[in-house]
Amino acid sequence: MESSGKPSTAQIVVLATSSALTAVFYSIYRNRVKIASCLKEAKKVSIDQDLKAILSETPGRCFPYAVIEGEVRSVKETLSSQFVDNCKGVIERLTVKEEKMVWNRTTHLWNSTEKVIHQRTNAVPFALGSHDADITTTVRVVRPLDAAELDLETTYENFHPTVQSLSNVIGHFISGERPKGIHETEEMLRVGDSVTGVGELVLDNNLIKLQPPKQGFCYFLTRQDYASLLRKQVNGVRVWRILALVFGLATCSTLLFMLWKWYVLRRESRKKKSILEEFKEQQRKRMRELQMEESSVPPTSCSVCLSRERCCVFLECGHVCSCGPCYEALPEPKKCPICRATIDRVVPLYNS
Ligand SMILES: [Zn+2]
Ligand SMILES: [Zn+2]
Repeated sequence: MESSGKPSTAQIVVLATSSALTAVFYSIYRNRVKIASCLKEAKKVSIDQDLKAILSETPGRCFPYAVIEGEVRSVKETLSSQFVDNCKGVIERLTVKEEKMVWNRTTHLWNSTEKVIHQRTNAVPFALGSHDADITTTVRVVRPLDAAELDLETTYENFHPTVQSLSNVIGHFISGERPKGIHETEEMLRVGDSVTGVGELVLDNNLIKLQPPKQGFCYFLTRQDYASLLRKQVNGVRVWRILALVFGLATCSTLLFMLWKWYVLRRESRKKKSILEEFKEQQRKRMRELQMEESSVPPTSCSVCLSRERCCVFLECGHVCSCGPCYEALPEPKKCPICRATIDRVVPLYNS
C-alpha cells in the first residue's frame, strides 16, 4: 500500500491471480457437481431379455442417461495382444515413452521426465452382455474412445535402458540431458472384463446401443463398478470445492486487508487535517487577541506566539514552526503544534 492509499502492484497481482483462480476452480466445481448429480440420478438398467421390449415402449425408444453393467463381448473380430499369448480384447493401446533426466538450472538437480513418442489405439466393435450366460441380450457400445475414465488393463510393460558409454556421459553433462531408456506398454480392454457404461441407451433397428449422451451429460466407460465410479466423482467434487474455498478465502482476505489499510490511511489523514484546522483556529484567535491581520504576520514568525522568529526544527516530523520560548512552554510530552507528532529532538536554527 502506497502512502496515497492506492494498492501496490504486488497486491493487485495477488488479488487478480487469486480471484481468477477462484473463478476457474469454482466453475470446475460447479461442472463436477452437475456431472456427479446426473450420474447419481442416471437410470439403472440391467441387461436382461426384456430390455428390448422395455426400450421399444419408452417414448423415443431411448433412455437419455442410463447406467448398465455387463461384460465385454466381441461382435465379430477381436484384437490379440502382441506380447501375451491367448490375450484377446476389443481395445488395445500401445504407448512408447522416452524417459530421460533433465538438468534443472534453477534447482541444480536432475529431474526425471517422460515424453510420449508414439501412441496407437486400436478398437473393434464390441458389446456388453449379461454376466448370466443364458441371457442373449447385448448392448453395442458406440464410440468407446470418446468415454471418460476409460481405464485399460496393462497387459505388457517393458523398459529398455539406454546403453551408456564414457563419451556419452560427458556429452550428457554438457547438454544437460541424460536418456534413461524407452518404456513400452500395452494396455487392453479384454473380452470378458466387467465394464460399467453410462450414456444414452437407445433401440435402433433392433439393436440396443449405448452411445455418447446429449444435453451435456458425461459419457463413462470404466472397469470400476457403478458405486466406485460414483464415489470417485463425488470425491473429485470435494477436491475442487476445497480449492475454490481456499482461493476464495485468499481473495477475500487480500481484499479485506487492502480495504483496512485504505481505511487506516484515510482515518490518519482526516485526523491530521482536523489537527491542522484546530491549530489554524487557535492561530486566528491569537491574531484577534493581538489585533493583527493575517497578511501582516511575517512568514518567518513563530506560529504559536506570532511575534518572535522561528528558531528550531522538530524531529522527526521536520516542522519549523516555533520559537524557543514557545517550544519550552509546550506541555510534556512535547508534541509538534502542527502535526502532533512526538518531538524526539530539537535542532536549533541559525539564520546567518
Ligand atoms: Zn513563539
Ligand atoms: Zn510537526
